Amino acid sequence: MKLYDTHAHLQDDIFNNDRAEVIKRAKSALSGIVIPSYDRESSERALAFLEDPFFKVTVGVHPHYAAEHKDLSFLDALYEKAHGIGEIGLDYYRNISPKKDQKDVFYNQLLFAVEHKKFIIIHEREAFDDLWDIIQGVRPQVPVIFHCFSHGEEEIEKILKVDNYIPAFCGNLTYKKADNLRKALKIAYRYSKFFLETDSPWLSPIPLRGKRNEPRNVFYIYEFASKFLGIGMDKISQITTRWWEFIFGGDSSARQENL
Ligand SMILES: [Zn+2]
Repeated sequence: MKLYDTHAHLQDDIFNNDRAEVIKRAKSALSGIVIPSYDRESSERALAFLEDPFFKVTVGVHPHYAAEHKDLSFLDALYEKAHGIGEIGLDYYRNISPKKDQKDVFYNQLLFAVEHKKFIIIHEREAFDDLWDIIQGVRPQVPVIFHCFSHGEEEIEKILKVDNYIPAFCGNLTYKKADNLRKALKIAYRYSKFFLETDSPWLSPIPLRGKRNEPRNVFYIYEFASKFLGIGMDKISQITTRWWEFIFGGDSSARQENL
């Protein structure tokens, strides 16, 4: 049974003291990890992981850092080796960069991903409507992961209805107040389309909430989803593996027709 973590910032300094052990634990439980980036430096550091095919890497600018990365030309030197572009999007919850910069940097990276046929990882918080307007204006034909889905039934349906858009749920799925996420997961299960992911080092699932998160802990999210949906973990693994293959398995256009 294959388990994946589609979102772990293993290039972060927080793993400097024990990165090798974290990776060892991950490899004993998982079949692959996506390492997304958030600015220029994290993108450069992420690419170093590509020596090992266990890792897939995205480069790009997170909305928090949009103001200082309006010039995206550094991506020209980095994108070729990367699998995807991300995490990119809008974050009106913390609003660290002005909205205008967030929108411009997001839009330009969307176009960049489409031009270079790279898959996309979306980060979005309290900005769904604006994000949806921008992305549907472009309507990218590459796979798009909606990282750490945080809304309800209406938004999950919108995402699921687009063939190449895939929602991903983080450890907050296990939190007591997250009924909206669990409802959304049920709907995503009806479409057989979702990922489970850690967002390491953040958002540790119960029973590890509050501690530093690491990829191996995605196991707890798989376990929780399996109990909540009343299906075997192998069934969930089948779903996430199929979408992993859709993105990383080679001929994605042929695969898409079979979905
Ligand atoms: Zn992230």
